Amino acid sequence: MRSELVDALVVHVADEDIERLTDTALGEEIVELRRAIDRFEFQCSRRLDLFARRQGFLAFGFVSLISWLRRACRLMPGVAVQHAEVARNLASLPQTSTALAAGEIGFHHAAVIAHSVTEVGAEAVVRHEPALLEAAQNHDPRNLRHVTNVIRYCEDPDGTLAEANDDYKRRYLHLSQSWHGMFYIEGRLDAEGGAVLQTALNALEEEWFVGDERTGIQRRADALVELARQRLDVGTLPEVGGQKPHLAVTASVATLKKEPGAPPADLEWSQPITADAARRVACDCAMTRVLLGPTSEPIDVGRCSRTIPPALRRALVVRDKGCRFPGCDRPPDWCDGHHLIHWIEGGETSLSNTCLLCRRHHRFVHELGWELSWGAEGAILAIKPWWLKNGAFSGVAPPLVSSGSPDSQEQLSTGATQPPGLRTN
Ligand SMILES: [Zn+2]
Ligand SMILES: [Zn+2]
Repeated sequence: MRSELVDALVVHVADEDIERLTDTALGEEIVELRRAIDRFEFQCSRRLDLFARRQGFLAFGFVSLISWLRRACRLMPGVAVQHAEVARNLASLPQTSTALAAGEIGFHHAAVIAHSVTEVGAEAVVRHEPALLEAAQNHDPRNLRHVTNVIRYCEDPDGTLAEANDDYKRRYLHLSQSWHGMFYIEGRLDAEGGAVLQTALNALEEEWFVGDERTGIQRRADALVELARQRLDVGTLPEVGGQKPHLAVTASVATLKKEPGAPPADLEWSQPITADAARRVACDCAMTRVLLGPTSEPIDVGRCSRTIPPALRRALVVRDKGCRFPGCDRPPDWCDGHHLIHWIEGGETSLSNTCLLCRRHHRFVHELGWELSWGAEGAILAIKPWWLKNGAFSGVAPPLVSSGSPDSQEQLSTGATQPPGLRTN
């Protein structure tokens, strides 16, 4: 080939001092180069089509075009298949070929249209070619795929249904745990199942706010856990082993009191968890006390009771209306009840010693060292741990202004039974 010409072109492009370019000029050059690459792709496709029809790969000792493309052209298997498909189908798409040759559409646009030929046949695609090219010039290849999917459905409804049923059969979900206790998720959902999950996650995903250090994918992970947690909290899931499904944590009093040398707590389905995490869970949970004998055999099992009883929970919802951490507006469904002085340390289970915190901010307090206390007129002060230099707030967090002091707010709970303080022995 005219390799000297190509070499000269590449050298010319390589020699340019790109550091001196403005951002606008740089952007324009990138677009220009991509268009040139697309145009070259068309010229490559033309040759590849001829090469495939002549079975030119045999001369190189390969048994298939794909294996030759993978080796000689250094392509990944899926990319090699795509290039072969474009080369094969572009020959029947004159308008698409012209548009790609002129750089009016991208190679990936052409690949989407060429794949449509494989799906519904050249005749149907040629009929829709003007509309497809118009869509290609105005949308990215992914959105163009939506248009070819519509064509596929109109031209071949039975095939589309069969494919949708096949996709549904291919669904799976792996949930596996590593040696360190982290869980890994991998799976595949059909279009409808994925859309249901995405809709639910979108609804539960918190919007970014100033000071939120989480990445988008961390917020998405939090949304998935929240989805499961809220479903468990509602208590409408069918019973398993005679009980409503729930997360079980087992911890000794010594662990909850963080006594030196105390063992970690146990979380069902998981590895041992820290005393801080156990204290957070214990802040608002259904608790059963089990008295162990000298050889650790259970000798007495107490009644199950909530550490934040339902009446107090209702009162907290009325008073707090959501997470009380400064700047947070998560609704009550997202929140745990939190004891400002933990009940294991003798803190009362009363309105004046509890408030609602969303799971994330509950974690801030128990595991990240933030301290909460009542400020003036029922506001809550969140004090950042000294070692956290780049947290959401500096120094003392601004208090959330609320309608009255903790004492006056207690009057809101007159319709509810004031719960007794809980103690462990
Ligand atoms: Zn708590
Ligand atoms: Zn919160």
